[in-house]
Amino acid sequence: MDATTAGAGRNPAAAQGLGATPGTAAALSAAPTDLARAIREEAHRLGFDAVGFARAETHPHGERLRAWLESGSHGTMEWMAREPERRSDPRAVLASACTVISVAASYYRGDWPRDLPAAAASTGRIARYAWGRDYHKRLKKRTLHLGRAIRRLKPGVRFALYVDTGPMLDRAWAERAGIGWIGKNTNVIRQGAGSWCFLGEIVTDLDLPPSRPAANHCGTCARCIPACPTGAITAPYQLDARRCISYLTIEHEGPIPLDLRPAIGTRIFGCDDCQEVCPWNRFATPTALPEFAERPDQQTPELIPLLALDDRAFRERFAGTALRRAGRNRFVRNAAVALGNVGDERAIPALAGALHADPDPTVRGHAAWALGRIGGSAAHGALLHAFDRERDFKTRAEIEYALSTDTDPSTTKEP
Ligand code: SF4
Repeated sequence: MDATTAGAGRNPAAAQGLGATPGTAAALSAAPTDLARAIREEAHRLGFDAVGFARAETHPHGERLRAWLESGSHGTMEWMAREPERRSDPRAVLASACTVISVAASYYRGDWPRDLPAAAASTGRIARYAWGRDYHKRLKKRTLHLGRAIRRLKPGVRFALYVDTGPMLDRAWAERAGIGWIGKNTNVIRQGAGSWCFLGEIVTDLDLPPSRPAANHCGTCARCIPACPTGAITAPYQLDARRCISYLTIEHEGPIPLDLRPAIGTRIFGCDDCQEVCPWNRFATPTALPEFAERPDQQTPELIPLLALDDRAFRERFAGTALRRAGRNRFVRNAAVALGNVGDERAIPALAGALHADPDPTVRGHAAWALGRIGGSAAHGALLHAFDRERDFKTRAEIEYALSTDTDPSTTKEP
């Protein structure tokens, strides 16, 4: 769980470490409704687009989480299965908790860059939320400022804050706090604003009047379900993470299942398809938060140079971004899959180089797969050559598979 506690029972020392921060909040001895209004104003001043309050009690979605975990739909994200009670009952985090304050900040930055001409280099796609700086740190900072502002409004208040806590049920709390409803694609959708937003929570012992829970406005729409390239939305509101491209390209370590690789297309970090088709996202307006402004070449980067990134180059290139969370090996693995799906023959030397010399066997295996997809005598030769010298048995199996799917060189595109 990615959490920062301040004044919570788990980490009372952290509360002492909180210094004063610039802000307008002044101590308030007011009715809870006035306090709630002041917190809303502070949240908006800090750049949040929405804020709401929910009673800190056991959330019924905890049962859904348990069932989801039991079905194995979380894949290899074992951290999700840890301490499920903390996810569904905020009092397991802060024993005196009365309220969950849910906040949302938009990261929408407008349309994708226009397509490059056909002659241009092959490019990959990075999910919108990672176009700018790493939201974990940035949003946590803003949420911490809000916590401090609340403490200035009400000295002595205790709180714990969370940003992107996975199964901390952040979406369920956002729905209960009136931020937005959980759509059939399992994202939180804000009426009139869409789903391109980050969520955060502050669990506090302040007793604030709860907001009206958000009503569901998916209606008869179901566009997101067939839009998922890998069929990860198995039913309305049901996501099998093991098929989800976001999971496969970011969380999943090791080989990507063979049957899912073609559907990944050129998505090298995350996937937005189930949100792109959502009609509510027509109402999204660009965020004013500067940290989420897109970085050059962090939307549709050229794929071939990504194969040459070593650990250090990867860390330097993506310093301060969410992409670093995937790690170099997964990211380069994804680039190889994308190149295989593009079928760009210009990538053969770089893929052959990765197959020959990449230190990570998974990258080598996916480079082999990509060469098999591209086919032709050059790719075939690289595969045969690698098979003779490869010692890792899984990579050898990848090469064998690639050779079995490779275009017959005698009928290649070669002149
Ligand atoms: Fe709901 Fe339709 Fe959006 Fe899916 S695409 S989340 S069904 S409104």
